[in-house]
Parts: sequence; structure tokens; C-alpha cells
Amino acid sequence: MAQAAGKQPQYTPEQIAQIKKKLASMKPEEIQEMIKKQCIFCKILAGEILAYYVYQDKKVVAFLDIQPGNPGHLLVVPKKHYSVLPQMPDEEVGHLFTVAKQLSGIVFDAVGAEGVNIVQNNGQVAGQMVPHVHVHVIPRMQKDEVVIEWKPGKMSDSEAKKIQTAIAEKAKSINIKEPKPKIVEKIVEKPIPQPSPEKMGKPAKKPAKKRTPKLKRHP
Ligand code: 5GP
Ligand code: ZN
Repeated sequence: MAQAAGKQPQYTPEQIAQIKKKLASMKPEEIQEMIKKQCIFCKILAGEILAYYVYQDKKVVAFLDIQPGNPGHLLVVPKKHYSVLPQMPDEEVGHLFTVAKQLSGIVFDAVGAEGVNIVQNNGQVAGQMVPHVHVHVIPRMQKDEVVIEWKPGKMSDSEAKKIQTAIAEKAKSINIKEPKPKIVEKIVEKPIPQPSPEKMGKPAKKPAKKRTPKLKRHP
């Protein structure tokens, strides 16, 4: 199909119906495989496209962005293909952002960054061009040409309350597994060792005499 540079392909309703039919007949693993074959980051991960790696572990890689906002602009990418962040399991997101955080500190020394932006786009409308989750680590320098901005909007009190309720109500379903607190079964009290008075340069006190308690006489 002919496609103008930078434009999305235009499908006829018949073609869309055909694609839908094909997808409906495919197994989830087959769909995942098909997506991976078309995904530029999966191709980088498979070694089919060259990238300048700076880090890798079992779950995550980081390489230089091909069109950097500044030198040292990195992309931190999960090895497993997820299109957008909400699809990723929490633990994997945690790991992805931990690596991004570590690299955001490293670029200060490595490329002389004076600041850093962490950017993560989800969906075309949000500026996501590559539909494989990734975190941008963008080193910032004085007077560089990176632009991350939005027109400051306005919000009335009633609007704020409405939005707050809409989000906060749904946020009640957030169920983050907190690490279980360690249960201390028995607290064993140990006497705190005291330095001897000699060591502290004081004369040692004579040990107090044991007094035998006086018995009260009953009349
Ligand atoms: P997005 O707009 O999806 O958040 O960002 C995608 C980023 O991937 C862009 O900054 C773009 O320069 C980068 N990119 C696209 N294709 C390639 C590639 O083949 N290699 C590398 N290293 N980066 C790429
Ligand atoms: Zn992918």
C-alpha cells in the first residue's frame, strides 16, 4: 500500500474488516509475535538493528536515542514488548523506572548534564511514536533546544472538585502490594553494656552495701 512519508496508512472499510477477521482468528501469542516483528525496539532487542547500548540486565536495556534532544539522550526499554505503560506489571514498571533513575544520575558526570528530564509518552496523541514502552532520559544543559511545555490552563474550584472526585474514586481500586512487615516474635531484652568508670576516667564507686530490710514491729 502506498504511504506518504510520516502519514498513517489509510485503509478501506473492506481492508479493516479483513484485518479484524484475521486478528479474531489468531491466538494471542501469534498476535504478540506479529507485533514484535513490526516493532522497531523489538528489532533492536533482537539484534536486527544497531543501537548504542549503555546498559542491560535481565529485564531492561538502555541505548542512545537515534535523534537525541541532547547528547546522552537515552531510551530505557523493557525487553518484553508492551505497547503502553498501563499494560506493564507493577514490578516491571518499578524496575524500569529504577534503571531510568540511576541513569538520570549517571548522565550528570558522563555528559556534563546540568539537569535531566524523564519523559514517558503513551499513545500517539501523547507523542508516542514507537509503540513499545520506553522511558526517555534527557540530559539538560543551559540554553539547549529541548522543549517540554504546555500552555498553562485554568481550573475553577467546582471543576477541580469534580475531577478530584472522578479520579480519587477510581484510585480507591489501586492495590499496591506493600512489602509485608517483619513480625518480631519475641523481644529479648539485652542489658546495655556500660563502660567501666575507670575507662571514663572517674574513680570507681564502692559497690553499695546490701541492706537488710528492717522488720516493722507490730504492736
Ligand atoms: P516516543 O515519541 O515514542 O516517545 O519516542 C521514540 C523515540 O525513539 C524517538 O525519540 C526516536 O528518536 C527514537 N527512535 C526511533 N527509532 C529509533 C531507532 O531505530 N533507534 C534508536 N536508537 N532510537 C530510535
Ligand atoms: Zn516491541
